[in-house]
Amino acid sequence: MHVIYGGTFDPVHHGHLRLAVELKERLGVSGIAMVPCHIPPHREAPGTSSAQRLRLLELAVSGEPGLHVDDREVVRGGASFTADTLRQLRATLGEREPLAMVVGTDAFAGFDRWRDWQAIPDLAHIIVIDRPGPGLPPDSAPARLLAERRVASVAELHRRPSGGCLWLDLPLLDISATGIRERIRTGRSPRYLLPDVVWEAIRRDGLYGAGQPLRR
Ligand code: ATP
Repeated sequence: MHVIYGGTFDPVHHGHLRLAVELKERLGVSGIAMVPCHIPPHREAPGTSSAQRLRLLELAVSGEPGLHVDDREVVRGGASFTADTLRQLRATLGEREPLAMVVGTDAFAGFDRWRDWQAIPDLAHIIVIDRPGPGLPPDSAPARLLAERRVASVAELHRRPSGGCLWLDLPLLDISATGIRERIRTGRSPRYLLPDVVWEAIRRDGLYGAGQPLRR
């Protein structure tokens, strides 16, 4: 099964990386493809370029054979629509290989605003990671989709190429990229929230206001 985990990764942190490792083990796959977006369609434009976010992600996973970076959205340019990414992948994987996308409950709550969202279940399985927060509004389109397509086990995802929705409860770290950017901007240390190699690159390149006089 090919599994993609997309995000802005602005910057990548240990919350993302631990989730990817937990997922790999729980799903019994040989690797997880982390897919940084170029332009996120449903949120504010990131302050860093996609090339910078991609490089930080590559530094973060280097030396970890179970995680790799798929740069197709950055290469494709424009707004990063997951349906387009899944169509590209489906074309290379063929019709039979199971394909799955991972999304947190926060992002899945707005799934029916994604471009071509109704096409997505025919392209891939959807793995929803339970994150703290308001959760899915009952009777919303994403909640109905989950109820209709919910599968009870990982094994069911391996049995068919697409169409299942798996709700997964995994241990998560309470870390957000917003909190990291805020710490850096206000001159506080984000150390131990993200890999040292990523923090070093951020400081070297002065990203997120690192090393600048404080803007309060
Ligand atoms: P921001 O604070 O800028 O919104 P973020 O830390 O939530 O960023 P994203 O790049 O937006 O990170 O997240 C990509 C994916 O990772 C989303 O599906 C999101 O639900 C998930 N995610 C984010 N933080 C964590 C975390 N600490 N643990 C597990 N999953 C996370």
